[in-house]
Amino acid sequence: MSRAIVSLNAGSSSIKFALFTLGPDGPEHAAAGKLEGIGTAPHLVARDADGAVLIDRNWESGAGLTHEALLRELFDWATQHLPGHEIIAIGHRVVHGGLAFARPLLVDDALLAALDALSPLAPLHQPHNLEAIRAIRALAPALPQVACFDTAFHHGRTETATRFALPRALHDKGIRRYGFHGLSYEYIARTLREIDPELARGRVIVAHLGNGASLCAMHDGKSVDTTMGFTALDGLMMGTRCGDIDPGVILHLQTQLGMSVTEVETLLYQQSGLLGVSGVSSDMRALHQSPDPHAGEAIDLFTWRAAREAGALVSSLGGVDGIVFAAGIGENDPVIRASICERLAWTGLTVDRDFNARNAPVISQADSRIIARIIPTDEERMIAFHTLGVLPATGGGQ
Ligand code: ADP
Repeated sequence: MSRAIVSLNAGSSSIKFALFTLGPDGPEHAAAGKLEGIGTAPHLVARDADGAVLIDRNWESGAGLTHEALLRELFDWATQHLPGHEIIAIGHRVVHGGLAFARPLLVDDALLAALDALSPLAPLHQPHNLEAIRAIRALAPALPQVACFDTAFHHGRTETATRFALPRALHDKGIRRYGFHGLSYEYIARTLREIDPELARGRVIVAHLGNGASLCAMHDGKSVDTTMGFTALDGLMMGTRCGDIDPGVILHLQTQLGMSVTEVETLLYQQSGLLGVSGVSSDMRALHQSPDPHAGEAIDLFTWRAAREAGALVSSLGGVDGIVFAAGIGENDPVIRASICERLAWTGLTVDRDFNARNAPVISQADSRIIARIIPTDEERMIAFHTLGVLPATGGGQ
């Protein structure tokens, strides 16, 4: 019987999960999958470490199935079809740790109550993260669960980096720049220390470019500044989110165009970004393939905005020694990387076309003043590391 940890990332309509067995060198990837279409047409796919499909199931007329009901199905499947694995703990991605929680924690009643109180700061994500924790508690009350916070990596930035230019009382009420994608950035900082310790000690901008996208300025592996702020809406243009926007636009939409709060929320989170500008798709691959000139315009704006924000982070860092690309677009899209790097040529960055085209680990030229790398991110593995570290019986230390 091999001991295993499950990492769970529960969102509004999907739950991503990964199973890691505990090998001598730490967590080893054993299986991963995704439950999508929660609330509409649930679909579960899981694959083993070699990519072979373990389950591919649709729930016909499953629109009424709740997160809890689907987690029960997932749990039942895992216990029946992953024999030989004893699940010793579940680690969860929890989007908001607020001001208090700067490291992963074992879930208990008091923590759950404190995290509930943070839900208004992340109403689209936090309730779903907590719902998954509660569902597992109901299914397996004795199973330890660990909350791993997406905000935690950004603790330790200066007060200035967390402040909006708003009255102090609002800052004191928690209206401040928290930053997100912390589990991804922490995994990259950790990996960079292993593969390029010299660069890891330096000033690095990490570009997490997926459907959600942000940049993090790190010095010696610690977050100094980041493009997301109070919510995951801030900063870069994303798949369907607008990113940084003049707040006056929001006032105008409401006061002059008569849009309701809900309509504005839907607009900013779900109808903007690549989708809104292109009118074609939120998916970068689809935009590359589209002949529509608006698709090209959306791509152009995406890289322009990314380079512009990166420039701001160079200022926060007082210079830059390297840039790391990660997530779906960052890891796989040479065209986007080349465009961002070209716009950052003023930093002394030059990209090797061949390395870039091959998604090589280092894509900068040998004589480039700064290094450009690709590091595949793995938030689920970071959750597994944290979960192991928190469990007293495993010896921790991950
Ligand atoms: P998230 O985890 O935030 O949902 P991902 O990290 O999976 O998002 O990134 C999704 C984005 O990555 C999409 O825009 C998709 O088109 C893009 N992407 C994924 N694979 C590739 C690829 N091989 N080439 C170009 N873009 C890709």
